[in-house]
Amino acid sequence: MTTISVAGAEIDTRHYIGGQRVSSAETFTNTSPIDGTFLGEISRGGQSEADAAVAAARAAFPAWAALGPQGRGVLLHKLADLIEENNETLSQLETMDNGSLLRSHRRGVMPRVAMNIRFFADWAINELHHEKFETRGHTNNVSWDPSGVAVLITPWNAPLMLATWKIGPALAAGDTVVLKPAEWTPLSASFFADLTKQAGIPDGVFNVVQGYGKEIGSALVAHPDINRISFTGSVPTAKVIARAAADNLTPCSFELGGKSPMIVLEDADLDLAAEIAVEQYDNAGQVCLSGTRIFVHENIADEFAKKFGEKASAIKQGDPRDENTDIGPQIHQVHFDRVKGFVDRAKAEGQEIVWGGEPNDELGGLFFKPTLVKNPTEGSEIVTSEIFGPVLCMMTFKTDEEVIERANGTEFGLAAVVVSGNQEHAKKITDVLVAGTIWVNCFFVRDLRAPFGGSKKSGIGRDGGTWSFDFYADVKNTVVSP
Ligand code: NAD
Repeated sequence: MTTISVAGAEIDTRHYIGGQRVSSAETFTNTSPIDGTFLGEISRGGQSEADAAVAAARAAFPAWAALGPQGRGVLLHKLADLIEENNETLSQLETMDNGSLLRSHRRGVMPRVAMNIRFFADWAINELHHEKFETRGHTNNVSWDPSGVAVLITPWNAPLMLATWKIGPALAAGDTVVLKPAEWTPLSASFFADLTKQAGIPDGVFNVVQGYGKEIGSALVAHPDINRISFTGSVPTAKVIARAAADNLTPCSFELGGKSPMIVLEDADLDLAAEIAVEQYDNAGQVCLSGTRIFVHENIADEFAKKFGEKASAIKQGDPRDENTDIGPQIHQVHFDRVKGFVDRAKAEGQEIVWGGEPNDELGGLFFKPTLVKNPTEGSEIVTSEIFGPVLCMMTFKTDEEVIERANGTEFGLAAVVVSGNQEHAKKITDVLVAGTIWVNCFFVRDLRAPFGGSKKSGIGRDGGTWSFDFYADVKNTVVSP
């Protein structure tokens, strides 16, 4: 069987290379994290499929590059239209495949996926100013030229959202693409490939290959005939990719993990702070940006904990297809065991677990209860490691200087949240926090014009607006003498 029926659509389980469906002799099994339902056997690529996909993308590159931003924009807008028309199928597919909320996909995620494509298509047309300036009578002409074949490697926690943050600017810049989605969530990328075909995007411009990171992933990033690697995933994988890329000096963009601080200052609106704090459980904690280290000023800690407790106990865990569900399961048994391992070790160390701390036995399967660890020992792994599950730590602090030092005392620098009733007070903190994105009195507001990325081990490079094109394009200056 080369197709499976999910959400009323036929999803091809093979690679999409050069506009054709291509199967591999070997497959891997894909199941739903909601209830373990068997979804299908997916083609498991290796070196030869990586070679074929890169060759197809290379062959398609000159014509795609020559089309120019306007020509590409027409096709990319058509693709975005098709994403909108297929919102229901894409939403159901993503929920079945990765267990995140159907209602979020329908109302938030899939409209944003279409927007990711439209935004970068338009940015390439309207905002990449081909600057001209004079130097001693000579004219400098700056341009963003297509760079070649971009390999995009993505994780499972927000499959199509994260993939289109890369696909949008790469295709708009005139690059051709080989996408390898995570092996736990292969389906939406496969359906997306069909939409690119329907949109009239020429064969070979967009390719999807399926399989394991250590097999086809490694083959792609070590390939000598690629021009860009854009990776979202974990720090250990990024190190392996960076070593492979070094041999060919392939430029890399890395969006990696986090252990973000959320700081609740003494002057904070505590209802707002508690509301933002429970949002850190969104997507069952499988969010790179989550503020998983909550620092609360000691004078308001009890009141904050009470309000947080009221809101956290109202979180409804269950089937992500149910409109009333707030959080669903963990993605996979391997990941569930990893999350549980962190919590079990914290318990064994004697850390105080206030909420959850165990699998949700009523639901069974991969559902782990939202968990809160109170005042864990400084430096213990529950405070320092990225767990990527529904596990928050809550600590108290006395002074701004102390909380700044503790908040910055991590190898990560992806995001931070500050809650304060006084903008100047908040600014004193945000000025010295090390993070790619900081939210004050809010969370998860993301504008595609703004830079997005991580400091320290949370990443290399920034996405958003012209920052994306600075990576996917070859930036060129042509100096012309009069
Ligand atoms: P992961 O690093 O295990 O895998 C990510 C992708 O890399 C998968 O497609 C995988 O198959 C592939 N891969 C694995 N080994 C490879 C190799 N040797 N060569 C090439 N590709 C390889 O990460 P994950 O578990 O899928 O995702 C969770 C991580 O992603 C967390 O650390 C999370 O914080 C991070 N993340 C970061 C952002 C961000 O924007 N900064 C967003 C989402 C997730």
